Amino acid sequence: MAYDRENIFAKILRGEIPCEIVHEDDHVLAFEDINPQAPVHVLIIPKGAYENMTEFAKKASAEAKTAFIEAVGTVVNLKRIDKTGYRTIINNGEDSLQEVPHLHVHVLGGRRLGALLST
Ligand code: 5GP
Repeated sequence: MAYDRENIFAKILRGEIPCEIVHEDDHVLAFEDINPQAPVHVLIIPKGAYENMTEFAKKASAEAKTAFIEAVGTVVNLKRIDKTGYRTIINNGEDSLQEVPHLHVHVLGGRRLGALLST
């Protein structure tokens, strides 16, 4: 399926929709989730147009991939959850209930998070 340029994160990247930025560099944007599921809930997205991890793994440059991983380290340090612990989640496609078709990693922390899967 072709990347949907009108998805909400594409609009955030173009500055058409506001977000609360946590961190940004040439390759990634990290911002607060609008509906946080934990005291810390940050979304990190690549600036490139990738629908999900499968596409990113196949098509992104090594530099973009490195930046995406490094952004996790930056965010958990900024949010001071590097020592207390945190969870990263990437939903991909229908079975995962991915809502927004632009690759994003959820970074969750600041409390005990419970079981990995609820059902
Ligand atoms: P998914 O289910 O695709 O893995 O997660 C999508 C996430 O995007 C959800 O946690 C949801 O709260 C968040 N989200 C949806 N729309 C917006 C928005 O306009 N702004 C921000 N900051 N987060 C959003």
